Amino acid sequence: MKFVDAHVHLSDEEYSACIDEIVAEARRSEVVALVSNSMDLKTSLGTLELAEKHPDLVYAALGIHPWAVQDLPDGELEKMLELIRKQKQNKSLVAIGEIGLDFKYMQIWKEQLEVFDAMLHLAEDLDLPVIIHSRGTTEQIIDMLPSYSVKKVLLHWFSNPISALSKAVAKGYYVSEGAPTVYSNGIRDVVRKVPLTNLLTETDGPVRFFKDPFKGKRTTPFFIPQIVSAMAEIKNMKVVDVADQILKNFKQFFDLTMEP
Ligand SMILES: [Zn+2]
Repeated sequence: MKFVDAHVHLSDEEYSACIDEIVAEARRSEVVALVSNSMDLKTSLGTLELAEKHPDLVYAALGIHPWAVQDLPDGELEKMLELIRKQKQNKSLVAIGEIGLDFKYMQIWKEQLEVFDAMLHLAEDLDLPVIIHSRGTTEQIIDMLPSYSVKKVLLHWFSNPISALSKAVAKGYYVSEGAPTVYSNGIRDVVRKVPLTNLLTETDGPVRFFKDPFKGKRTTPFFIPQIVSAMAEIKNMKVVDVADQILKNFKQFFDLTMEP
């Protein structure tokens, strides 16, 4: 079987001491592609390095995360826009991400909107998909996006409100789900309701999960086969069929022609 991780932060500091091990473990777990998402300039440079080192496995998503807006140094937005534009011909660059809006950071709401707007315009210009963080802002983001000509949208860790799911699917958006598929009733409900053709798998590593069977474990792409098994059980399908469809979705979403 072949598995994919559409949303992981491989250039996160937490992984820096063990990144070779994480990459080797992903290969052993039959994970054939990882999209490493960035938070800011430093993690974007780290992501590009990893994609260059492992071109058959690691793909790059570059962007400014809404949490990073808080301490964004002067001129970093401009530097990021320049860096990403320069990568236009880089085959490893497959998306703009992780970008979005987070309601928990209302004190910097105006700044979040500015950065998100700049990132969406960049995605339009470079004709790239976007990977979106939408904590508490899913409906607002779904309403905002039609004013941009961004073609492909991935709502990562889509959780609520469940009523927004049909709206997202009607617009052709994708959702990605990770470890909570195994233990969270809310996420299991999302997986049940989303058409399999709009679903992707993720780990969002190195984020930690505090429920079994992931409690106390370092998050790695090694979790993906367990997540796909849970999806297959929810969808009442064979694991191999779910894995194959998700691989197909992944290639289609990121416009990749990977080896069969
Ligand atoms: Zn993330």
